[in-house]
Amino acid sequence: MDEHTVAQHAIERARRGLDAWRRGAVGWTGDGWVVAGSHGTLYRVDLEGESCTCRDAAIRGEVCQHQYAATIERAKISVEAAR
Ligand SMILES: [Zn+2]
Repeated sequence: MDEHTVAQHAIERARRGLDAWRRGAVGWTGDGWVVAGSHGTLYRVDLEGESCTCRDAAIRGEVCQHQYAATIERAKISVEAAR
């Protein structure tokens, strides 16, 4: 894949992550993030370790939509906490 294609794929995953976050798919278990996939599968996201249990992250080693979704939620919580 050339650089343009790689960037396009990253944008697409970020957009899907935003969609997942909007539909309330992100949760905090007390010791980690979980994100519900569009088919109801729960994926565990480790933002510090930059990992997720889905195929995109676990096999391809890419930043997946679940990591983007959890990142948005974490940012929202830290903004609210700072108020
Ligand atoms: Zn994932």
